[in-house]
Amino acid sequence: MITDARAPQRTATRRPSARAPRAATATPTADPPGEVRSTPRIVSAFRGVDGKLHHSRCGRPIELVGVRGGIELDFRCIGCWEHVTLTQAALARVPVGRE
Ligand SMILES: [Zn+2]
Repeated sequence: MITDARAPQRTATRRPSARAPRAATATPTADPPGEVRSTPRIVSAFRGVDGKLHHSRCGRPIELVGVRGGIELDFRCIGCWEHVTLTQAALARVPVGRE
């Protein structure tokens, strides 16, 4: 009898908590009219004076090692071997010079 009494309570408490994130995510997507959402700044890489892409952390060039899904470009730093991923769209927004 105790188990039967708890089961409906768990179901009842899950439903409102599952709906709460939906209501919360609906609010931020409503941008003010005329407001242009800024794109995130690229911080993992920069374009050097030589025109090549460089790793922001160590400053060494990064080399293209592959493409995933036709949109994500995988690079590997020749200095520290860290993996850097950029989308093709983000490639045009890579800042020139190290910040
Ligand atoms: Zn590096």
